[in-house]
Amino acid sequence: MANDASTVFDLVILGGGSGGYAAALRAAQLGLDVALIEKNKLGGTCLHNGCIPTKALLHAGEIADQARESEQFGVKATFEGIDIAAVHKYKDDVISGLYKGLQGLVASRKVTYIEGEGRLSSPTSVDVNGQRIEGRHVVLATGSVPRSLPGLTIDGNRIISSDHALTLDRVPKTAIVLGGGVIGVEFASAWKSFGTDVTIVEGLPHLVPVEDENSSKLLERAFRKRGIKFNLGTFFQSAEYTADGVKVTLADGKTFEAEVLLVAIGRGPVSQNLGYEEQGVAMDRGYVLVDEYMRTNVPTISAVGDLVPTLQLAHVGFAEGILVAERLAGLKAVPVDYDGVPRVTYCHPEVASVGITEAKAKEVYGADKVVTLKYNLAGNGKSKILKTAGEIKLVQVRDGAVVGVHMVGDRMGEQVGEAQLIYNWEALPAEVAQLIHAHPTQNEAMGEAHLALAGKPLHSHD
Ligand SMILES: Cc1cc2nc3c(=O)[nH]c(=O)nc-3n(C[C@H](O)[C@H](O)[C@H](O)COP(=O)(O)OP(=O)(O)OC[C@H]3O[C@@H](n4cnc5c(N)ncnc54)[C@H](O)[C@@H]3O)c2cc1C
Repeated sequence: MANDASTVFDLVILGGGSGGYAAALRAAQLGLDVALIEKNKLGGTCLHNGCIPTKALLHAGEIADQARESEQFGVKATFEGIDIAAVHKYKDDVISGLYKGLQGLVASRKVTYIEGEGRLSSPTSVDVNGQRIEGRHVVLATGSVPRSLPGLTIDGNRIISSDHALTLDRVPKTAIVLGGGVIGVEFASAWKSFGTDVTIVEGLPHLVPVEDENSSKLLERAFRKRGIKFNLGTFFQSAEYTADGVKVTLADGKTFEAEVLLVAIGRGPVSQNLGYEEQGVAMDRGYVLVDEYMRTNVPTISAVGDLVPTLQLAHVGFAEGILVAERLAGLKAVPVDYDGVPRVTYCHPEVASVGITEAKAKEVYGADKVVTLKYNLAGNGKSKILKTAGEIKLVQVRDGAVVGVHMVGDRMGEQVGEAQLIYNWEALPAEVAQLIHAHPTQNEAMGEAHLALAGKPLHSHD
């Protein structure tokens, strides 16, 4: 450790995940003296148990699907099976490369990195490894962990969380996924590609229930076609072990059996026994409460990432961490517009969106003020080449800006960059229609959708 007992850092950060390390890197760049405390591995959930490993599994699944479907493209290949150890090696190599890079970055910015489990010991200090680390300001960034339900014990073998699913040493023959949100549908998609017979159980009426209903319905259609089963609209009641697996019973008495049960019902904040309450930090159901500048009610303490009740996404953590660093360095901090955050679910096909849903737009602006347009990817050359189906749906305030872009289709996550510029710059359809989109790309579908919404459709019907 670089400091001695008398050092007072400008900033002490508890938790080295997306939110914490982004705050550390930006604050150090702005000349602040930063201590970053992490009990496990720098990079947190996203790098080691979240975004990166899941996307590697999904990519391996995509390769498997391509091998199976190669004949549709005139290519002779045979799918022989999944070597799960090799899949894990590929995934772990990706993680370790990024991990090394991140460690190098933190060191090069002269952040004082402290390995150990920290505890908030005063409004300006964290205790770790028997030492008190003092700072003018403290950022809480302890993140989240998988949640379960009362009476449902995660054993790590037959009843598992996403953490276990990422290191499972076998491809299960059958699996029940409890929860049809982002994490649930991503694992269902990857497992199906690996050859598992998957059933998703979701209590709400749709998969990816926070997305525009049109996206949910398109995903459900695509999953049905892929043979991914799902049961919607009935809540889980209980789970019990069978001779060789797990039996799940729903509230209506329906039962499902499988080799493994993945519990993917959401993630809860890591905030217990960390001294937060003792220091007077206001909390709600374990989440640390903050204002739009990520300030808690204690003037010297901020909080970011999954620990606060905003969208649980790595790039939200980055943005919140940067916001805090800039505010503390005396720069003008701009609050995050959470509707303007791009959201991608990386299943096959992908679901991507930014802005608000049609239902929300009607609530906000009134039903008669909302216009929608759906552009079918069947009219898009590149999507045809890829043999993917889906839509781009636009939600517009009548005679005004586009306030929602909702997409389903393979690789549509890559289109969310332009979609977020459109939303965040409050673009009018006619302005986007003016921009030329390259042919033949899937990005062209974004242009075509706006051409149609602006009243001058090219490759779509009036
Ligand atoms: C399966 C899965 C897939 C995901 N996929 C995506 C995706 O594709 N895209 C996306 O944007 N987001 C995704 N996420 C969400 C994303 O991982 C999180 O939003 C992000 O990691 C939150 O960052 P954070 O810094 O708030 O918390 P975390 O990343 O959880 O980091 C918190 C850190 O604090 C440390 N810590 C906790 N307590 C202490 C303590 N007392 N002392 C010291 N250190 C402590 C932890 O060890 C951890 O490293 C996914 C999550 C999961 C689980």
